[in-house]
Amino acid sequence: MHEIHLHNTLSGKIETFVPQKPGQVGMYTCGPTVYDYAHIGNYRTFVFQDILRRFLKLRGFQMNHVMNLTDVDDRIIANAAKAGVGIREYTEKYAQAFFDDCKTLNIESPEHWIRATDHIPEMVSLIQKLQAESYTYPSEGSIYYRITKFKDYGKLSKVDLTGIQAGARVDNDRYEKESARDFALWKAPKEGEHFWQTAIGAGRPGWHIECSAMAMKYLGETLDIHTGGIDLAFPHHENEIAQSQAATGKPFVHYWMHAEHLLVEGEKMSKSLGNFFTLRDLFAKGYKPSALRFALASVPYRRQLNFTFDGLQQATSSVERLRNFAARLKNEKFAAGSSAEMAARIKTAADDFDGGLSDDLNTAQALAAVFDLVREANIAMDKGEFRQGEVKPALAFLASFDKVFAVLDDTDAEKLKALGFGADDAGIGDAEIEKLVAERQSARARRDFAASDRIRKELSDRGIILEDTKDGNVRWKRK
Ligand code: AMP
Ligand code: ZN
Repeated sequence: MHEIHLHNTLSGKIETFVPQKPGQVGMYTCGPTVYDYAHIGNYRTFVFQDILRRFLKLRGFQMNHVMNLTDVDDRIIANAAKAGVGIREYTEKYAQAFFDDCKTLNIESPEHWIRATDHIPEMVSLIQKLQAESYTYPSEGSIYYRITKFKDYGKLSKVDLTGIQAGARVDNDRYEKESARDFALWKAPKEGEHFWQTAIGAGRPGWHIECSAMAMKYLGETLDIHTGGIDLAFPHHENEIAQSQAATGKPFVHYWMHAEHLLVEGEKMSKSLGNFFTLRDLFAKGYKPSALRFALASVPYRRQLNFTFDGLQQATSSVERLRNFAARLKNEKFAAGSSAEMAARIKTAADDFDGGLSDDLNTAQALAAVFDLVREANIAMDKGEFRQGEVKPALAFLASFDKVFAVLDDTDAEKLKALGFGADDAGIGDAEIEKLVAERQSARARRDFAASDRIRKELSDRGIILEDTKDGNVRWKRK
């Protein structure tokens, strides 16, 4: 087995992975902001995290992995208020869709699934600690973090703080590096929107304090690994470090790992650019969950992944190839005995596979080891040179491959069925159509036209035409 090397955004270097407690890993992952359906760009990052945790488990580490649902966010609170519902009610549908999607992509459940709304007291007490250490100041009912007081500010994202004006503040949770400013830990209530009544006043937490408080509650003051997409390095993770380290005086995280973006035609896939696909968009076009997982996992996480349908088609063939190979091993009868050459070949493949993943999760290298073996073993089988003695070690190697990649079991059809695809030969069922139509009506009612258009498109892709009637109702028919 190889020494595990991981890239640490903080040092900008590849480092040997040594957890604080031997054999145990405490890891925090920023979860989705449940104000809308997640897109496949988001899942690129979640699949990377899943490959990381599965690989560490394969290597014998016991994981303590925490993932949150960001269910307190400016957009969620504003949208919930507009729709006249509570936060839980508003986010439930998106949270459920996220859980369903993770299951569909074989993303394992972390040891702790938590929600920001369940941890307001922890956030308040962290802010109180920062107040006691004079890292904060109040302004118009909100509480801000004074970034110039924290000497390590900017070390993670290498943000340049020259020229920053004392007292310049930012209220949005998401902003660019050029606007590095004092950020809101606690936000004053807004007319008509949800707030909490607490010891530090009425209001709601900023996004950054949420993750600091939740991560330290479950993992202690210093985490082994913290992950996220690269867009979270600034400001979110920079601010998490500033908050946590100012409060504890200890390093917050040993290894910061960030996945590069999934791009579509050279641009980041994002909701705001409108260039996104959800899982359901792709399944409606006939692609399989296993192919999508494979496509997302196959490009090493620190390389940008350019999403194309050709790539997805190739991933479909790659998964088929692996499944066919596994089936051959299980079903064909080979001549008795053993081949020293093939036995050595399987050992080398297993070693190269581990070597690839140990090298900062180089999934491309790990997969090359698998496919090289599959090619050579298939040739040996065709020539009648493969021996029964190598069936067991070859299957054992495939099993450890699949503990990480999780694409071999052919469960695509049942997963698609669980999501309402291919339920019968006639395609989408009436109940699901009614459900989507109702979702679209409520999106329109809250003037969320992007969501309403997306549902119309999804239905259209699945052969359903909508007609909006003058009285505000909607009729549907099959194409
Ligand atoms: P959000 O729901 O916006 O907080 O994002 C959830 C996760 O998806 C975060 O780790 C983001 O960094 C990540 N993410 C967002 N867009 C992309 C993308 N195009 N490619 C890869 N990861 C992304
Ligand atoms: Zn976070």
